[in-house]
Amino acid sequence: MKSLNEFIDTYKDYPKEGIEFKDVLGILQEPRIFKELILKMSCSQIIKNAEAIISIDARGFIFGSAISLQASKPMIVARKPGKLPGELVEKNYSLEYSEDRLSVQKKALEKYSSYAIVDDLLATGGTVNCVSKILESNNKEVVGILVVVELLKLQRKLHLNYPIESCITF
Ligand code: AMP
Repeated sequence: MKSLNEFIDTYKDYPKEGIEFKDVLGILQEPRIFKELILKMSCSQIIKNAEAIISIDARGFIFGSAISLQASKPMIVARKPGKLPGELVEKNYSLEYSEDRLSVQKKALEKYSSYAIVDDLLATGGTVNCVSKILESNNKEVVGILVVVELLKLQRKLHLNYPIESCITF
């Protein structure tokens, strides 16, 4: 997608020195571009082959919920600590500039057996790897990973074993 690049600002040394932060929120200020992006992501084979979507806190929710609506696929969420009620499946992980933990509601996981993981950006792959481990530990199939932006420099050091699709690479 050629023009998407124009709506993603880069902030050097944010939130830490050495990080080039890619801000995807500019896309939301351009409904035509946002719509085009969602239509494209919704047509992905990864979405088609999955029973449901799992989107990641917080920018993943923006794209995941729009895809869920467009593709008529149910969506569940992986959230940061202290945000979800009920019984949870939780896992710690490290990302490009910090450590964190993600949780999924056990009840939400019960209904569907295969998932497309949706997030705004793939850097080291630590975040999606954490979600895939949560899914696998509950005997769920990970169909693939769908992101808006992929940072090739960080080259998924984890060697994720799933199909990965991105709309723009840096
Ligand atoms: P990672 O686990 O390293 O693949 O990091 C991906 C997650 O962290 C995504 O949820 C992104 O929102 C966020 N993230 C990591 N690095 C960046 C970056 N350079 N620019 C914007 N978001 C980032």
